[in-house]
Amino acid sequence: MRRVDRALVSAPAVLVGAKSRGGKELAKATVFYKAQAEANAALKAEEAAAAAAGAAPAPTKKKKKEDSFDFSAYSDEAVKYALDKLFFGKCAYCESRYANQAPVDVEHYRPKGRIAGDADHPGYWWLAMVWENLLPSCIDCNRRRWQDLPVIPTSLEQLLAAPEMQGAKASLGKQDLFPIAGNARATADAPGIDEQPDLINPCVDNPDDHLVFHIDRKDPLGLVLPTFKEGTPSRRGLTSIHVYGLNRLGLVQERTRVLRKLEFLSRLIDEIGEISTDLLASTSQKNKTMGARLDLLVNQILGEIRAMADPDQPYSSLVNAWAQSLKS
Ligand SMILES: [Zn+2]
Repeated sequence: MRRVDRALVSAPAVLVGAKSRGGKELAKATVFYKAQAEANAALKAEEAAAAAAGAAPAPTKKKKKEDSFDFSAYSDEAVKYALDKLFFGKCAYCESRYANQAPVDVEHYRPKGRIAGDADHPGYWWLAMVWENLLPSCIDCNRRRWQDLPVIPTSLEQLLAAPEMQGAKASLGKQDLFPIAGNARATADAPGIDEQPDLINPCVDNPDDHLVFHIDRKDPLGLVLPTFKEGTPSRRGLTSIHVYGLNRLGLVQERTRVLRKLEFLSRLIDEIGEISTDLLASTSQKNKTMGARLDLLVNQILGEIRAMADPDQPYSSLVNAWAQSLKS
């Protein structure tokens, strides 16, 4: 995951102001959810009265399941375009390039229609069309489904002893999950509550505070781990890895490929560099010329590595972590 400065792309006009598509949708949603809250409150009062009188609640008065609002402004083409621009066509969570595989899922960081595990909360519907709540996501990070997971050993020693990735199945993907620390969850009536989200938002948090790539130059394996502070793993790092499925098998394999490529390029640089040094030290002019040409080649390879770390490249945060590991 890579930190992204949202200010680099301004909110699409379609979401800004009361007269925009988003503004009109918010007005309609406000009416809808206000009516729903009142209906639910009335229903609860009736049920309580019936319970007090010893009667069963009338079945026809049960809350209807199809009570949901049809949001659409967030998936306007202009929003998708702005998100593509801000994130270079990559998933906000895993940095995979989604553009050439499937249309982007416009993801609500705070879920719009319901919150998994909190049946009484209608979801953060007032943020459904708010630019700051929208992120581009690949299908695997966003939709909850059973996916392959490499078997992650409980200790780093075990991990290094058995790096092969045997498939295990786990239910991964964010969907309507939005776990928080504590109970202070924002509502439409109290939207300003200081929530403590357990999930990392790449536009708000610095992912490097919570996530760290496992870099072993001898035995590359593209796992992401939580950072540790005084022996305790980052809670937000752990939760994000699990909920977004950041160690799902396909992703670990993709990142391992990138690490292997980096190691290959790095070995080329070392070996070509050695030959070039020998040639440049030679008295023969022909050898000196060859050495200089090889030096240019080394610079080209270095340029290729640098380009892999550019923000528009998939897994650029991994490439940067690898480059940092060379320095330490
Ligand atoms: Zn993703």
